[in-house]
Amino acid sequence: MSNPIITQNNPLRELTDLARLLSVRGSERTVDDGAHWARILAHIKDGQINGTAPDLLKDARQFLATLNHNGHMHTAIYTDQPHRRYLLLDPVGRPTQEFPWGRQGKQAAQIVQLDQEAPRALHLALRAQRRHPKLTGRAIRAAQIIANGGIKYKNDHHIVTSQRANSLPYRVTCEDGQVKCTCKDWRNGHAGKTPGAPTIAGQIVCKHALAVEIYKQLQKEGTT
Ligand SMILES: [Zn+2]
Repeated sequence: MSNPIITQNNPLRELTDLARLLSVRGSERTVDDGAHWARILAHIKDGQINGTAPDLLKDARQFLATLNHNGHMHTAIYTDQPHRRYLLLDPVGRPTQEFPWGRQGKQAAQIVQLDQEAPRALHLALRAQRRHPKLTGRAIRAAQIIANGGIKYKNDHHIVTSQRANSLPYRVTCEDGQVKCTCKDWRNGHAGKTPGAPTIAGQIVCKHALAVEIYKQLQKEGTT
């Protein structure tokens, strides 16, 4: 029988959970941050980390506190490639739910995560998706941008954080009733290329343009 007291006070166990979480959440900030914790996670699994666990645990807690200051999601979806599954991790890195491998399993994990982090944004995104199936994955990604605090209003336009680490943000403007974004998906849609953002009611709708739309709706409702 396992002893819960020993498990709770096991720094290596806690470090494993946190390294798993930070390998995902860190990579949302910079590629290097994510890679650092992924390496530590691999070293733990290889049995190379024992004596240094308490020091690394201190680092991990500190890094987590930094991340939590930035309005990002507190949970993470870990891609567990060796076991071909996705794990939803709670804010201290413990797996809370498991999802099957593949596109559908991953999307199911994303929906459960967004339902915890930004339920109203998810609701609006899924409604847009039902009404306009050609949005495909853009609706879920728009809700993720909002859940990560990725939209700021500046003068007469919105700045939308890129979902890629170390990438410049995009600018969403509205001129003469036409919404424009500076991303490639929007430009491709504008040029009529496939794949490119779809046109809905005369507007080219990339995930950033949709995220701004949902964000404005949330502000109107007072949800943000
Ligand atoms: Zn865009």
